[in-house]
Amino acid sequence: MHIMINIFHISKFLIQNLDIQSHAVRQQYPRNCKMYTYSISQSARLMEDFLELARDNTKNDLETCGILGAFLKMGTFYVTTLIIPKQESTSQNCQAINEEEIFAIQNEQSLFPVGWIHTHPSQSCFMSSIDLHTQYSYQVMVPEAFAIVMAPTDTSRSYGIFRLSDPVGMSILKDCPEEGFHHHNEPADGGPIYEHCSNIYINSNLRFEIFDLR
Ligand SMILES: [Zn+2]
Ligand SMILES: [Zn+2]
Repeated sequence: MHIMINIFHISKFLIQNLDIQSHAVRQQYPRNCKMYTYSISQSARLMEDFLELARDNTKNDLETCGILGAFLKMGTFYVTTLIIPKQESTSQNCQAINEEEIFAIQNEQSLFPVGWIHTHPSQSCFMSSIDLHTQYSYQVMVPEAFAIVMAPTDTSRSYGIFRLSDPVGMSILKDCPEEGFHHHNEPADGGPIYEHCSNIYINSNLRFEIFDLR
């Protein structure tokens, strides 16, 4: 997917780690995401509603992508908006088109682009090299930005919430000139390029709005 984005300036401080990941996932990924300035609160309906909107594409083995918009209040990003842009997709990639329509909604509603969500209709739940470059573009702007991968056919893990490791993963992506699917070398320190996020929690009271521009 392609990137929109306005420049935001966010200074970093450590915050309390609000962890929704299961114990099993933490054990599998012992290196938690580093703690970020702001925690993130997202609607309980977000992932469910997105899968529903993606259903026809998923049936046809085509990816679907969406952008998550949030407002910032008292140290928390509240994810209130899912924008599904016009898009072109294959079984392994999805690209937003007419991005000015995304900017217009973000500007109108004063939303931060704090993340994106996409399906892997037939692949497992992971971040492809293209996904990592997309995620880099978000994370450069908003360090808390995250990627949700929905993989309904992955029997071991149907979804994941990911972020590039910082600074290791971020610097690998910053220095990578390649496009399309390609290989990234493992970080020299043996750590991961990307990790599960740990400062995102579900808020069932959050209002939630969907703009389906397709
Ligand atoms: Zn992907
Ligand atoms: Zn790369």
